[in-house]
Amino acid sequence: MSHRIYNFNPGPAALPLPVLEQAQGELLNYRGSGMSILEVSHRSAWFDEVLNDAVARTKRLLGLDERFRVLFMQGGASLQFCLAPMNLSAGDKPLDYVDTGTWSTKAIKEARIQGKNVRVIASSEDRNYTYIPTDIPVDEEAAFLHITSNNTIRGTQFREFPKAEKVPLISDMSSDIFSRRFDPSPFGLIYAGAQKNAGPAGVTLVIVREDMLERVPAELPTMLKYTTYAEKNSLYNTPPAFAIYITGLVLKWLEEEIGGLERMEEINRRKAELLYGYLDAQDFYRGTAEPASRSWMNVTFRLPSEELEKAFIEEAQRNGLGGLKGHRSVGGCRASIYNAMPLEGVEALVNWMKDFAAKNG
Ligand SMILES: *Cc1c(COP(=O)(O)O)cnc(C)c1O
Repeated sequence: MSHRIYNFNPGPAALPLPVLEQAQGELLNYRGSGMSILEVSHRSAWFDEVLNDAVARTKRLLGLDERFRVLFMQGGASLQFCLAPMNLSAGDKPLDYVDTGTWSTKAIKEARIQGKNVRVIASSEDRNYTYIPTDIPVDEEAAFLHITSNNTIRGTQFREFPKAEKVPLISDMSSDIFSRRFDPSPFGLIYAGAQKNAGPAGVTLVIVREDMLERVPAELPTMLKYTTYAEKNSLYNTPPAFAIYITGLVLKWLEEEIGGLERMEEINRRKAELLYGYLDAQDFYRGTAEPASRSWMNVTFRLPSEELEKAFIEEAQRNGLGGLKGHRSVGGCRASIYNAMPLEGVEALVNWMKDFAAKNG
């Protein structure tokens, strides 16, 4: 087989090799259909099984009870920034947001565009989004409280979610869904572009609690209503069938090869501890997120100069470690170590970092 690198790209990101191999193996003839899964009807029994299997695996992995609906939509997490306030406002109650950087800032902007009563009740802008605010003043009178569980660009992550009882939590979990266990019951809505930690680009996973669907205004356009997707099992129109199929294979890998979320969380913890442990043990590289807020998914760091960062990223690529460039808005370096990145990949990265520091430090 041709040479594959350790892929640290932030998204689209690495997919598990067994998933790619299975997709390759059944690409021309899906389970005796004589057709590719790319070619079958989305109303066929073949696709029905693909879709229902992906829904069932999502529910099992996350421990979702019968109150939760699992939907597959398009438009990315970015469309959800608009749809969440459009669908779930509950009259003129305030919409509360925590601003932890780029993606949450964009979510806030989309609610404001709609003229909603938006309140930013906590923010980490004062220290350049390098941390997750604690002491979030949860107001039970708000329609919802929106957070971004993992901040892909800044490398910060909520370790614990705000304590919300009566106010439904909404989370953009694009870059850490399926990375760890959590209690889903306080969440009214969870959404995630699949291309970080769940599958390929082109599908957005949406988990909505049934009581939230009662809020959806009847007069919204059909394709912008969560109820349309919930009532038709994501089959009102043609869904992104291939992306759902690949996502289903990723979830199967997670359940059957990794052994579920508890095991995945343990592996992710070990990967993160290895990399942060190294960052803390030397002073050539400098982590940018405050230690208590560090992400287990996106590890952001700087080198002593931008010239060294450029050399580091290019030489790493030549040595089989790809995608280490930081987001263009913040610069620096970033290693995205999602579920599909094995521990050996992080070990290879740390060894490479040691070599590079020894040569250039
Ligand atoms: C990548 C990302 C987005 C944007 O996702 P799209 O699917 O490209 O719209 C939003 N939120 C977070 C946390 C992300 O990592």
